Amino acid sequence: MSAPNPPFSDEHEELRSSARGFIERELAPHAQQWEEERWFPNEVFAKLAAQGLLGLKYPDSYGGQGGDYLHEAVLCEEMARIGSGGTAAGIGAHINIATPPIWKFGSEEQKQAYLVPAIRGERIGALGITEPGAGSDVAALGTRAERVDGGFVVNGEKTYITNGVRADFIVTAVKTTPEGGHSGISFLIVDRGEGVTSSALHKLGWHASDTATISFQDVFVPEQRLLGGLNDGFKLIMANFQWERLAMALGAVGAMSLAWERTATFARERQAFGRPLTGHQAIRHKLADLATSVYTCRCVTYDALRRFVAGEDPLREVTMAKLLTQRACFELMDACLQIHGGAGYMREYWIERAARDARLGPIGGGSDEIMREILGRALDVAPSR
Ligand SMILES: Cc1cc2nc3c(=O)[nH]c(=O)nc-3n(C[C@H](O)[C@H](O)[C@H](O)COP(=O)(O)OP(=O)(O)OC[C@H]3O[C@@H](n4cnc5c(N)ncnc54)[C@H](O)[C@@H]3O)c2cc1C
Repeated sequence: MSAPNPPFSDEHEELRSSARGFIERELAPHAQQWEEERWFPNEVFAKLAAQGLLGLKYPDSYGGQGGDYLHEAVLCEEMARIGSGGTAAGIGAHINIATPPIWKFGSEEQKQAYLVPAIRGERIGALGITEPGAGSDVAALGTRAERVDGGFVVNGEKTYITNGVRADFIVTAVKTTPEGGHSGISFLIVDRGEGVTSSALHKLGWHASDTATISFQDVFVPEQRLLGGLNDGFKLIMANFQWERLAMALGAVGAMSLAWERTATFARERQAFGRPLTGHQAIRHKLADLATSVYTCRCVTYDALRRFVAGEDPLREVTMAKLLTQRACFELMDACLQIHGGAGYMREYWIERAARDARLGPIGGGSDEIMREILGRALDVAPSR
């Protein structure tokens, strides 16, 4: 299926073909095993780094490739080809949510200590915002960082954190002014060490990723690990939301496109009532509807991406892209599974995993309901409080 007016240059397309080759050669063949083991090896980060894939958008001076968000966008789409949402999620958390705040808000010393080794695949990052009592409502977070001589002492618990077991450092949202609401939040870069314990969670999908609860018990964090300004954490959260949501939209578009192609191939080959499935109008029409959904999602996502790269503040367009693509991806996977019949329900078929993996999209990175709330405000249809 041709892409609608893609924002990518020939150089981006060259990157696509080399990233695709690497993923199909080095990662995809292991997807099934990693899913069963509920873990993908940490060496995956080193392998990606050797290809330059952990630093596409970061400057050469930090070991990155000096590219732009379009280079990263290519990788976000191509990661669907790993065939393991969990592996893509672990890589995505490292490059799309854990390291960007350090790049944008970190001191030079923090960049050298965390961003440079993260780009080399030597230190793995996680972003810790969500807590048992605070998900969509970020201002309700209760992890406390109390000022002490030379730094902070952190106590509290984070949950549903991607890379939560393996991460060497956690970019952690903490309350530094308890009564401050949104304006009482700061970020600390917390090293794994004394007082930091993780326990893995079991999930519907994303099996290869280590989603975890992380608890902090009297963890001393030195002053130099304050990321951005004191009580400026909400700004830091907001700064990367647009990219995180675009990355999720791009991931969905990549996954949808691949699922459509594979399902169309299956439907051309599978026989029922003396004809291929595509010989039945209901299946042809379903495939036509699904192709329309892939195309629509791609158009909306590329439009938001183009605006984002041009330096606009495309809050509405990115929010719409996230809202549209995540639900559409899950619905498409469900329809593809249906076309596979009983085979679609079997572990050995890729679609069984893809359908489970797609369910996270409407929840993570800001749920569908929160996207609608943002749009309600942006479209000026929310009553003032
Ligand atoms: C596999 C996985 C990986 C994740 N990775 C990370 C990570 O790396 N780092 C991290 O910090 N977090 C991570 N998360 C957390 C994720 O961002 C949250 O789960 C998400 O923001 C929703 O928060 P919650 O689960 O607390 O749900 P809640 O906020 O409790 O919401 C419950 C339901 O109520 C709805 N709701 C909430 N508020 C409103 C409202 N105002 N109006 C209407 N409906 C509302 C929600 O949409 C949802 O349907 C991950 C989650 C999962 C499942």
